[in-house]
Amino acid sequence: LPPFDPADPLGLDDLLAPEDLAVRDTVRAWAAERVLPHVAEWYEKGELPVIRELARELGAIGALGMSLEGYGCAGASAVQYGLACLELEAADSGIRSLVSVQGSLAMYAIWRYGSEEQKRRWLPSMAAGETIGCFGLTEPDHGSDPAALRTHAKRDGADWVLTGRKMWITNGSVAGVAVVWAQTDEGMRGFVVPTDAPGFSAPEIRHKWSLRASVTSELVMDGVRLPADAVLPGVTGLKGPLGCLSHARYGIVWGAMGAARASFEAALDYARTREQFGRPIGGFQLTQAKLADMAVELHKGVLLAHHLGRRMDAGRLRPEQVSFGKLNNVREAIEICRTARTILGANGISLEYPVMRHATNLESVLTYEGTVEMHQLVLGKALTGLDAFR
Ligand code: FAD
Repeated sequence: LPPFDPADPLGLDDLLAPEDLAVRDTVRAWAAERVLPHVAEWYEKGELPVIRELARELGAIGALGMSLEGYGCAGASAVQYGLACLELEAADSGIRSLVSVQGSLAMYAIWRYGSEEQKRRWLPSMAAGETIGCFGLTEPDHGSDPAALRTHAKRDGADWVLTGRKMWITNGSVAGVAVVWAQTDEGMRGFVVPTDAPGFSAPEIRHKWSLRASVTSELVMDGVRLPADAVLPGVTGLKGPLGCLSHARYGIVWGAMGAARASFEAALDYARTREQFGRPIGGFQLTQAKLADMAVELHKGVLLAHHLGRRMDAGRLRPEQVSFGKLNNVREAIEICRTARTILGANGISLEYPVMRHATNLESVLTYEGTVEMHQLVLGKALTGLDAFR
């Protein structure tokens, strides 16, 4: 039998092909060199000062729009994209959010619903990280219920005129292009908005206690005039943004396990070396129970992510299954981080260790891309056939 590996107790690496391992190693090495040495400082300052450099470097390693085909994208498998999300979030959820919003929300919307001209204009520079994208769905008064959003686009001759406000938009202030969802006379439509358009502004939201190494913004659209071809031609209605969200949520199913893994590793390392009552705290049964339960949930979560990835690669992944994964993995990841925090005692609350940063980051991950309650309602509806949303 192969020896027991504390880093891979179920032998899940056996599920991965050499190409998958190569992707994982590349992203892990990039994050170790470019993110981990600096992220505590960015987090403390509440800023991501090098976001443009990071975006270009992520583009260079093929991590932006990674699982999309053509237009400069890497055309990787869903499993490989998931592994990349896990490694990025093991560094910080803010970096994974940058990549999720760029690839799975902004680029995916254009790739899936855009015209050939829109794809050619935007996707290559977004894949290279030259242009950062954002995705504006949430509004100050409409979060979980986006069907009720108020931002609207009206025809004026051949042009569109876009008016409204978006809230909590990742990458907003640094974006060169915004995909904005708005009501029109024809139903909800997506618009590709260059952020230098007159009437568009994106003030940054400060004072966050979570995802501090991530840019989060308001989008203000005050009569932004757009040409007729700014609309995404391929979709009308809520299924447009929901299709993008499903793709991004899939990445989060993996990503959350990265934050959990980093916290688990910190706790295991600490438990082996920290001594109280004359012996390592890892030798106490209560600490071992915590570590065993954390390892069980961590690797079950990775196995679930892998299963969903294979279904996505086979074109068989249903949105309810993504909800299943997002609900479980983010909820368990935050629990793992909180338990890891207790093992580190007072050091657990320090930025010298990653666990509190991961735990507070996951508070955002628990809320965005559908709250826990929304995913419970999705599954509740699928199980019972009864819609409890309203
Ligand atoms: P609400 O919808 O007001 O919900 C408040 C509470 O009520 C939640 O617990 C919710 O589950 C519960 N609730 C609501 N309806 C029901 C119901 N029917 N039954 C039971 N409970 C219910 N949005 C974007 O569009 N683009 C982005 O890039 C983006 N980035 C984000 C980054 C960060 C850091 C954060 C925190 C958020 C981001 N969001 C983004 C917004 C995010 O998607 C929303 O916050 C989320 O959808 C929840 O909306 P809300 O905050 O308005 O909460």
